[in-house]
Amino acid sequence: MSATLAAPKFAPPAIRQTKMLIGGEWVSAADGRTFATYNPATEEKIAEVPEGSARDVDRAVQAARKALEQGPWGKMDARDRGRLLNKLADLVEQNLDELAALETLDNGKPIRDSRAADLPLVIDCFRYYAGWADKICGQTIPIRGNYFCYTRREPVGVAGQIIPWNFPLLMVAWKWGPALAAGCTIVMKPAEQTPLSCLRMAELAMEAGIPAGVINIVTGDGPNCGAAIVAHPGVDKIAFTGEHRTAQLIMANAAQTLKRLTFELGGKSPNVIFADSDLDAAVQGTEFGLFFNQGQCCCAGSRVFVERKVHAEFVDKLVSRAKTRKLGNPFDPETTQGPQVDQAQFEKILKYIELGKQAGAVCVTGGNRLPGKGFFIEPTVFDHVTDDMPIATDEIFGPVLSVLPFDSVDEVIGRANNTFYGLAAAVWTRDVAKAHRFAASVRAGTVWINCYDVFDAAAPFGGFKMSGMGRELGEQALANYTEYKTVTMSLT
Ligand code: ADP
Repeated sequence: MSATLAAPKFAPPAIRQTKMLIGGEWVSAADGRTFATYNPATEEKIAEVPEGSARDVDRAVQAARKALEQGPWGKMDARDRGRLLNKLADLVEQNLDELAALETLDNGKPIRDSRAADLPLVIDCFRYYAGWADKICGQTIPIRGNYFCYTRREPVGVAGQIIPWNFPLLMVAWKWGPALAAGCTIVMKPAEQTPLSCLRMAELAMEAGIPAGVINIVTGDGPNCGAAIVAHPGVDKIAFTGEHRTAQLIMANAAQTLKRLTFELGGKSPNVIFADSDLDAAVQGTEFGLFFNQGQCCCAGSRVFVERKVHAEFVDKLVSRAKTRKLGNPFDPETTQGPQVDQAQFEKILKYIELGKQAGAVCVTGGNRLPGKGFFIEPTVFDHVTDDMPIATDEIFGPVLSVLPFDSVDEVIGRANNTFYGLAAAVWTRDVAKAHRFAASVRAGTVWINCYDVFDAAAPFGGFKMSGMGRELGEQALANYTEYKTVTMSLT
């Protein structure tokens, strides 16, 4: 009895897969090159993975086209595609411990988050889209004349999917779920910082019985490997999550072949706290909304607008809460904040902390790196930030929160919208009318009222303005992976 009650011990898992998956085979790069992936908590090398180039991408695209056009996948009943997605979800559930540990090892996120947030959301996403596979319907359309007109929704074809490092497995699920439900085949490139969990997931997809060539994984960098996917004429669609500057490069590159594009990009999301809110709940939600995942969330609530009447009280409570965060070994189940993902991100964040200080913002807690190995940065709160400071305008993608006082509803709506981003926003108030007025006025793809970072596979997610194009999740994401075909038959 006591054995089953003992706290589980968490440790880095054995690395089972470091090759790329092309046409159902685990392969090295054609030119034999490799690159290293590192543990951000220790700065030690974990493994070498293939550095894919245009030749590997070409092989993967050919495998994906063959699976689409000649393999069993194209002829499979939609319900059976759903069955395979459910099987994959079951396998993820059975291997949750290993996958969560792999995610924590390669990305640095606390094991408690990998286990309680990332992996459950992955499983839920696959199950949600499993249910959609046989419900993607066309319409019959009453056109003029003696005709029978209907639409079919067909897979868009080969989907190129390029994902970032902040939620490696969750991004796999968001991309594979709707693509597989719709009957597409896939060439995916995980981020160079975090390739390992994606490769292991691809192994599970094979084990689930998803036919060879339906999912292909090419590991490599962005400018060579990612760009080769975007440029390839055999790829019909690109789904990309990452920085808006990368999306601009991708859009230009994709212009040559006029690919369908969907983007989920960055943000500088406003989180607005009114004086009439439940202040303790707002503090808790604000802490979570910014510091979750080491601040490495595209929807992080990094501009915290606080009504001046409660500003001092709110900042006091927020600072106390930020100080309770436990920074350290991400495999310790007590840890709530791990390291940033790599040296480049770490240095960028420290630079922004300096810029905040130079601009005259007041650093009320944090502001330092931890001594020793690992890319750890203290939870940092800046007060008295003004809208024009770099820490208020730029996406920092780290544990750095800016507090900006305000006085009126109209003022804060204007200031919340004063950004080229438009991914998410939140408002905290007990006044229902004010909450909905804010929700209607803010230019953002997601608005949370009295909560933050509530995600569900059924609820669409994506950006207004330069935070994205199209929507992921929900029924909406199926549109990214289907083409409408109109069929008209004469009845005379
Ligand atoms: P981040 O700064 O968060 O790493 P990026 O937008 O640079 O965000 O990277 C997100 C993903 O896009 C990664 O998989 C990366 O390799 C890829 N990528 C980067 N540059 C390009 C590019 N020019 N073409 C295609 N993919 C790219």
